[in-house]
Amino acid sequence: MTGRDPQDGRSAGPAADAPLVWNVAGLLGDGAGAARDYAIEGVELDGGDDFRLAAPIDGRLHVSRTNRGLLVDADFATALTMECVRCLREITVPLTFEIHDEALPSLDLKTGKATALSAEDEETGVIVLTSHHELDLEPAIRDAILLNEPIAPLDREDCPGLCIVCGLPLDEGDHDHPDDDIDPRLEALRGFVADG
Ligand SMILES: [Zn+2]
Ligand SMILES: [Zn+2]
Repeated sequence: MTGRDPQDGRSAGPAADAPLVWNVAGLLGDGAGAARDYAIEGVELDGGDDFRLAAPIDGRLHVSRTNRGLLVDADFATALTMECVRCLREITVPLTFEIHDEALPSLDLKTGKATALSAEDEETGVIVLTSHHELDLEPAIRDAILLNEPIAPLDREDCPGLCIVCGLPLDEGDHDHPDDDIDPRLEALRGFVADG
């Protein structure tokens, strides 16, 4: 899996059970300026309580060697399953995002000793390579999805939301309810909506 084709600088991809982890030992052994390109295709990711992917992740990863470590430039495309904030219908929201980060080794490649990564480095969002010289992008991808997901997604721009009398979407069915059907607790809200 660390095999590499010297013709185009491409390397074999990650293992099937860790699709977002790349072994970069070969690249670290090269001089500054060396680079590798990888394709990311159909990667599934369980977002737990944070997000729900509606489509697998596709993307491109370019990793280049610097004096200190690696520069990671990647772009991704996927889709999220979300709820319209007004009518609560489930919607699919396309999502693209990029990662541009520095990745630094946790172990010196030649001596095998721990490198002196400062707390400052880790706080500024530097990716720390594993002790097996692996670049694990999963945490950065999870963060990027949360940072880039829309805050107030809508199923359509002019979604009218829910009826305050019956609670069903206003763009479905007839909401010509008699006035006395209105829950008195919602009366104040109705006045607010009419004013707005
Ligand atoms: Zn809606
Ligand atoms: Zn209604």
